[in-house]
Formats: sequence, C-alpha cells, structure tokens
Amino acid sequence: MSNCDLLDKCGFFQKHQKSSWAACQGFIIPYCQGPKMDDCQRQAYRKKHGGPPPDDLLPSGQMLKT
Ligand code: SF4
Repeated sequence: MSNCDLLDKCGFFQKHQKSSWAACQGFIIPYCQGPKMDDCQRQAYRKKHGGPPPDDLLPSGQMLKT
C-alpha cells in the first residue's frame, strides 16, 4: 500500500506523525498509509475549499480536541 500523495504537505500528518497518542496512529495507518486513504475528509476539504484544512481536522472529518 502506498502513502498518500499529500503526506509532505498535510498539516495533520506533519503535526501528528511522531505522536505517541494511539488515536493519531490509528488514523495515520489506515488513512495516510492504508486502504481508507480515498475516504480522507482532509482531501475532500481541499477539493471543496481549494486549500488546506486546519491541522487538527481528522481524516474522519471530526476536529481533534486538544
Ligand atoms: S490526513 Fe488525509 S490528506 Fe493528510 S496525509 Fe493522511 S490521508 Fe493524506
């Protein structure tokens, strides 16, 4: 399985890729590097708004609560 084409410029991935928080890894593995990539709501946001979403928008479409 290949990686998402947006890895290098994705704020969520860049911010959370080294996170030890399991939930972030739980998104990165299935979405950014796995079979749910095409369901990523961050990609959908980019298409709809023509620009990047907030870093804390999760691939599922919910906002990460910090
Ligand atoms: S969060 Fe979505 S847009 Fe960002 S790298 Fe992962 S799959 Fe790609």
